[in-house]
Amino acid sequence: MKCEGKEIVSRLDRAYKIKSEDFLAIEIWEKTRDPFKVLIATILTQNTTDKGAKKAYEELDKEVGITAEGLSRADPEVIKRCIRKVGLHNNKTKVIKEVSTKILNEYGGDINKVLDLGLPKAREKLVELPGVGKKTADVLLITCRDYPVFPIDTHIFRISKRLGIDGNYDKVSSFWREVSDNLRLRAHLLLITHGRATCKAIKPKCDTCVLNDCCEYYARLRGSQGPETS
Ligand code: SF4
Repeated sequence: MKCEGKEIVSRLDRAYKIKSEDFLAIEIWEKTRDPFKVLIATILTQNTTDKGAKKAYEELDKEVGITAEGLSRADPEVIKRCIRKVGLHNNKTKVIKEVSTKILNEYGGDINKVLDLGLPKAREKLVELPGVGKKTADVLLITCRDYPVFPIDTHIFRISKRLGIDGNYDKVSSFWREVSDNLRLRAHLLLITHGRATCKAIKPKCDTCVLNDCCEYYARLRGSQGPETS
């Protein structure tokens, strides 16, 4: 990679303003301080936009209420109707029912009991829950407890690869965790903002990007090898 990781985070920090309403999990945490609600919000945002997920979340909250008990007892057809506009809503209905039931049965409906186990135990227990992979677990751990983790979503994977930071989830996550110190959550949100606004999957705005002199993709684009094809 052509620039230091800290330099990249610092440039993004100067380039973008972070608004909590652009990130459903953050918005829900700031409003409710309830990790279970953050979990459901994060499941709803998987493979869909935060804006679409927010509408589904609000409808589900109004119709059923976002609690482990309420959702585990709710009619799946009601959940499905509330979240019908988000991607993979059939699968998400199943996951929401299963994860709510498991949290109700194993933790009395209180996911704080998992988060309070500390690292790495809390992370191990979270990824055992239905529908919870490393990214969703890390979103919960950093948002609700400020644990030293760094969630990697598709935007951050794409940006990292283009900059020249390659590898699996754990490798990319530990790179950003180390370079962002105590600004981890902010750096995570800055990278997502950069992916949404500039380093888009299709037609990234490289000519106006604040990272273009750091970027291997851009160097290839301007050099003899031609643009990235995958
Ligand atoms: S130069 Fe282009 S590919 Fe590289 S980080 Fe910026 S927008 Fe993304």
